[in-house]
This record gives sequence, structure tokens and C-alpha cells, in this order.
Amino acid sequence: MNEFDQKLAGIRRAFHRDPEVGFNEVRTKAKVAQQLRALGVEVHEGIGVVGVLRSGDGSRTIGLRADMDALPIQETSTHDYVSLNEGVMHACGHDGHMTMLLGAVELLANDPDFDGTAVFIFQPNEEHGLGARAMIDDGVLLQFPLDEIYAIHNLPGAPLGEVSTRVGQICASESLFEIKITGQGGHASMPHVGVDALTIGAEMVQALQTIVSRKLAPEAGAVVSVTEFLTDGQRNILPGTATLKGDVRTRLPQDREDIERFMRQIVDGVAAAHGARAEIVFDTEFIETINSAAPTDGVIQAAKNAGLEVIGDRQPMSFSEDFAHFCEAVPGCFLLLGNGTTTPYNQPLHAADYDFNDALLPIGATLWAQLLKDRLPKRKNI
Ligand SMILES: [Zn+2]
Ligand SMILES: [Zn+2]
Repeated sequence: MNEFDQKLAGIRRAFHRDPEVGFNEVRTKAKVAQQLRALGVEVHEGIGVVGVLRSGDGSRTIGLRADMDALPIQETSTHDYVSLNEGVMHACGHDGHMTMLLGAVELLANDPDFDGTAVFIFQPNEEHGLGARAMIDDGVLLQFPLDEIYAIHNLPGAPLGEVSTRVGQICASESLFEIKITGQGGHASMPHVGVDALTIGAEMVQALQTIVSRKLAPEAGAVVSVTEFLTDGQRNILPGTATLKGDVRTRLPQDREDIERFMRQIVDGVAAAHGARAEIVFDTEFIETINSAAPTDGVIQAAKNAGLEVIGDRQPMSFSEDFAHFCEAVPGCFLLLGNGTTTPYNQPLHAADYDFNDALLPIGATLWAQLLKDRLPKRKNI
């Protein structure tokens, strides 16, 4: 390891030892801000931390984003930088994401071979899908209007440093729903004088299955899962209320809107058929992450220029990412970067024995810097 690689490993391990969950990233934010200041970069501290580096007089601005939060998981590894915080762990590699971006800031600050403005966005609370939205609602994109935005996520089990991405949808949406049925409770021996919310709920559970199987195109790849069914009934008490809860995943915004519409139709229809009332709350926590064409081509080019293997048409990921909110507002690209094929670097994200691969830090930092320079090229002297 050279000095730069060692420095990055030290920064990453310090983050790893002291993980903080979403919206509690107090010490993490302080560390990020301190590192940015040490590199001579303009720093803005708010809901997240933003660093700004300008070079030349170009008007274009590119955003590079890293996430900062950890997960409520008890780490099981025994290495010497294991989490010191009981029940909290960097199990998604966000310690590495922050460090790769800080490494890129150092490379770019030392060699500002670009023309325009680089905005380094360190966002809180990715895991609950709230941090990106919070920063956008707080005006980060008004304060720093971006032409393009990018994010890297490590990918366990993929070869070290292999870049993979695609144009269009890359991560799924996640919506949670809750259906409240109100009938009439009563005596289990006299159902005819009540309105049994459980039977009505059961009919809804069955009918909801037809949304994916009969109303969406077979290739939609959507999921509607009812995961909880709660009533106020007991052995001899006819339930007067029932609550169904569940989870919806989609690849396209149109499918998500259609599912919500069909769900309301079914629920209202079944409730009306039995003289009950029903209400639905449909709350989209993560929208679909959609990569734009030009930024994605830029990532593929930058990866090649950085000497990395690249897959430009990978399969979409089944997980969700709140970077989606940035991609909705600004043309962007979310890319995966191979974390390596050996244990523990091939353990799944969110596993208690997962670890970010320190060997990936300089690779990611170099890729970030390459991408920034490629997207903000210096004008050639004529
Ligand atoms: Zn995660
Ligand atoms: Zn993550």
C-alpha cells in the first residue's frame, strides 16, 4: 500500500469503528467536514455536508454523492477496527462510500485539471429513504444547481473494481400500504347481525394478487405482497375491524401509479360489496432509480479511461436507493463497483459479517476523479 492508500484505509476504518444510524450521523458529519476543510475545500454543513471545489471559469456543475449512515446490526467480525457502538454497524459499506469520495476530493484538490464546479454531497439516512429527500427539501439543489449527479454503491461478490450500470431503471421502488377495513363487530354465533371485517379482508388479499398476475404486463417485474393481517376479533368475537399491511416493488413509475389505482379500485369495490368501509394509505418510501443516457455513457467512458472492467447493460438491482430522488431532479447515474469475490467482501450487504474492501478505496477515488474530469473537460487552447 502506498501512502494515499494507507491514508484512505485509516479514514475508512475510523468511520467503521464509530457507525451512526440515519439522521444521527453527528460525529460522522464532523469527521467529513474536518477532512474536507483539511483539503482546503469550501464546506457547507446542514442536514448533510457539502464540499465545493471550483476550477477555471466553466459554468457547468457536477454533483458526486456519498451516503453516511450505518445500520442497526451487531457486527460479528473480529478485525481490529470492529464497530465500537453496540448494535450499530456499517454493513452497507457507506463508510467506504464516504472515504472514496474524500479520496477523490484529495486527488482533485491536488490536481484540479477540470473546468467548472465539483459539488461533493455527503447525505444522511439513505437506509430509510429519507436523507436525499431531506437535503432536496432543504434546498441543496437550489443552492448548488447541478447539471449532472452521480453515486457509487459497492457490490459484494463482483470482481474488485468492476463497474456495472445501465441506462434507465437500475433500482426498484418500494411503497408500503395499509388498508383499514371497518365493518361491524358482534357475536361469533350471530354473524348475520355484524359485518365480518376478516372475511372481507381475506377477499381483498386474494383480489390484490390479480394486480400483478392479471392487470400488469408479464414483463413488469412488479411485486405486491400482503405481509400483515390484523383484526380485533377473538375466539367468540366477530371482528369489526381489520388491517392489512404490505409492500409493493416496481421497476417503472407508471406501474407504481397503476398498482395504487387498481388497489384502490379493488379495496373500495370489495368493501362496498359487503357494506363495509375501507381506507388505504399508500406511501412510497423509495421511488425507482432511473439513470439518464448521457451521464451513464459518461460513467462507462470514465471507467474505461480509468482502466476498469465495465458492464454497461447490467440487470437492474432488486434493492431500492434514495439516490433516486436526486436522479428525478437532475440527470444522473447510479453505478455499482465490485467489492471483490473473497470473504468477507462477497458477503451480502446488510450481513453482520460483511466488510467494505479497503483495496477498493483508491480505485473508487480514482474513478470519481476521472469521471469529474471527463464531465468537466478543460477547454483546449486554440
Ligand atoms: Zn443498505
Ligand atoms: Zn447502501
